[in-house]
Amino acid sequence: MPRMKRKKGDHFNLLCDIGELAGLLAGSDNIEQFLQQTVVMVARHLDAPVGSIYLYEEATRHLVLRATVGLNPAAVGKVRLSIGEGLVGKTMERKRHLREGRASGNPHFKFFEEADEARFESFLAVPLIRGDQNIGVLVVQHEQEDYFDEVDAMALRATASQLAGSVENARLMFHFQRMGSTTPVAEATDRLGLIKGESGAAGFALAPIAVFKSGHGPLLAYRPDTEFASTLAGFRKAVDNTHQQLKTLQARLAQRLPESAALIFEAHFMILKDARFVARMAEKIESGLSPPEAVRSVARYYMDLFSSSSSAYLREKTHDIEDLARRILRNLRQIGTDDTDLCSGRIVIARELFPSDVLKLASEDVRGIILVSGGVTSHVAILSRSLQIPLVIADRPDLLDLPDNTPVLVDADMGNIYVNPDREVKKRFQARETAKKRAAETTGPPPDETRTADGLRVHLMANINLLGELVLARRLRADGVGLYRTEFPFLVRSTFPSEEEQMPIYRRLIEEMAGQVVTIRTLDIGGEKNLPYLDSTVEANPELGLRSIRFSLRYGDIFAQQLRAILRAGAGAAQLRIMFPMISSIDELRQARQAVAEAAASLAVDGLEHNPTPKLGMMVELPAVLDIIDDFAAEVDFFSIGTNDFIQYMLAVDRCNKTVADYYRPYHPAVLRGIDRVVRAARCAGKEVAVCGEMGHMPVFITFLIGIGLTRFSVDPQFIPQVRRHLAALDTAMAAAFAAALLKETSLSAMKEILNTHPEACHDPNP
Ligand code: PEP
Ligand code: MG
Repeated sequence: MPRMKRKKGDHFNLLCDIGELAGLLAGSDNIEQFLQQTVVMVARHLDAPVGSIYLYEEATRHLVLRATVGLNPAAVGKVRLSIGEGLVGKTMERKRHLREGRASGNPHFKFFEEADEARFESFLAVPLIRGDQNIGVLVVQHEQEDYFDEVDAMALRATASQLAGSVENARLMFHFQRMGSTTPVAEATDRLGLIKGESGAAGFALAPIAVFKSGHGPLLAYRPDTEFASTLAGFRKAVDNTHQQLKTLQARLAQRLPESAALIFEAHFMILKDARFVARMAEKIESGLSPPEAVRSVARYYMDLFSSSSSAYLREKTHDIEDLARRILRNLRQIGTDDTDLCSGRIVIARELFPSDVLKLASEDVRGIILVSGGVTSHVAILSRSLQIPLVIADRPDLLDLPDNTPVLVDADMGNIYVNPDREVKKRFQARETAKKRAAETTGPPPDETRTADGLRVHLMANINLLGELVLARRLRADGVGLYRTEFPFLVRSTFPSEEEQMPIYRRLIEEMAGQVVTIRTLDIGGEKNLPYLDSTVEANPELGLRSIRFSLRYGDIFAQQLRAILRAGAGAAQLRIMFPMISSIDELRQARQAVAEAAASLAVDGLEHNPTPKLGMMVELPAVLDIIDDFAAEVDFFSIGTNDFIQYMLAVDRCNKTVADYYRPYHPAVLRGIDRVVRAARCAGKEVAVCGEMGHMPVFITFLIGIGLTRFSVDPQFIPQVRRHLAALDTAMAAAFAAALLKETSLSAMKEILNTHPEACHDPNP
């Protein structure tokens, strides 16, 4: 088998463990301890007696030995090299790994007596780099000549790419901790400092905060020293201004969130129109209460009323009332009354948010979100990702005590929150952002087609959650849309959207991807994705309940409206596809197909233009379909494997439950063989098959999938460049051998062993 080699090292576990470095980081008291644990781990996995890390010191431009196992510990902090000096300095200068079978014979070799390294002949070093920033050098050594090979080098490079980020973060964290209590800031800030959370949506933001203090949305409390309008006329003007500002926000939102712009402030407008709401406030003002007191008192009354309602929909409206009251109060202020965006340019800290809140915040150009309790739903995270709003979830209610406007840095890539960061922390993060931007600029335009290194054409499509993501998908030259999740337009509404409301959304999707494949998945609600207006769906075991296609088939009229809307939107579109989620039996598939036929027939009767013959496909998400997959293949036009749910149901592991995350194993033999089974069935029947779950953007599984003959992927648009890069470096013969090796094995440990001996399959060529 090409490039396969049994190895004494433990590469896969090394990669896994390095991936866990964030945890290791949290358990370390200082950077020295963190680095020491790291070198011990690297040396152990590579079976090397020596492992060392040199860090680059910006001030002196030296590489300094900061941690070692195997060399004399007394040399730590003492061995210093400039760039280009010795083999370590050479590695940094070349920005490439350096492997030497007999180090003492290399003209650049430099002997450090204090390090006691003369007896180690085999030398392997990789640079730690972030963008154009030098972080340091990671080295392993061995007494035996020619001990390390290219496979080790590859594994160490993959390790270094992850390590560089962690080291950079460790430096920041520990720097920050050192600064800690000496910074003269408010008491709450002092106590908080650096907080470890969990990343919900990647990115980085540095901005003043806006705290949403109450259990729900924005705060009602206002600083008593603010001067407010004191007359009824002033109050009415504030209400008019609020109305006007909401219109402006809505118009702005229309560009970013066309499918839901008209709805985000729907409740606000309704409440404003409700004679009782404004009239009650006016009455209170007439009877002597000050306008701000009147607003607060009436808003509080409605909030209490709604929050005690048994209807989830009404409870959610508590946010809208609070938000509206806050806007009126803001407009009652005597100065700065044209302040439309309450959260513009801020990081919002809240106890919990609903998806519609996230959409609202997006309209205000919020920079980041921190949620302080576990109230996060996958929707909030998915939406934040789609909207590119960095999100960190931290179980720290004390963050709510921070004064508004406290500067905070959110590093959502790592899940870190820096309260009141000092100059050094800010500088480093800004440098990181600049490097990221520069790297993006130098990437150049994407190729017209995606191919592997040996020329295999791969279709790389986009998963779309919000129409706003289409711009990126087009810019990155996605080969159409492999999955459009229709849930989101349903989520922001107060009731099921009608056919007329849905149609323009689907039409816009199809128009924006004109001439390309557009795959619209029918409603996949239930389980974790709950509609607030559907109280009746509260179930003991929602993931196994009335979700997805089961819901659509149970509520035929809702399904019919959606199908009619899709067919109408797709009139004249040659590449329209409709995809059914969570199919478990041929009968279900037939019922769903029948519903499409009936929708088309009813449109014909109504004389409405539509697409009578879209391609019809199903998602493969349940293990139940595997044994009858050939029968499905005979009936569908295409398959799309939803690996997120496929793994969840195959292994009986809740995909959102952190306590069983260890059991969620994409490399489980049953998962990989199941996927292979589906791909073979599709190929045999001449039907298309794609993968649209998260496995589709993970390097090692891309290699596996190409290896079993899959050539269609659908991934979130932001992952397209990295998937394309991985594919461009991939050799299909290597991928096939890798896949064949995996498919032969039966145990988890054997699977790991295969992954371990093939770092070339796992490696991200351009991290
Ligand atoms: C999946 O299950 O892999 C999938 C793509 O669907 P969703 O993540 O929307 O459940
Ligand atoms: Mg799914």
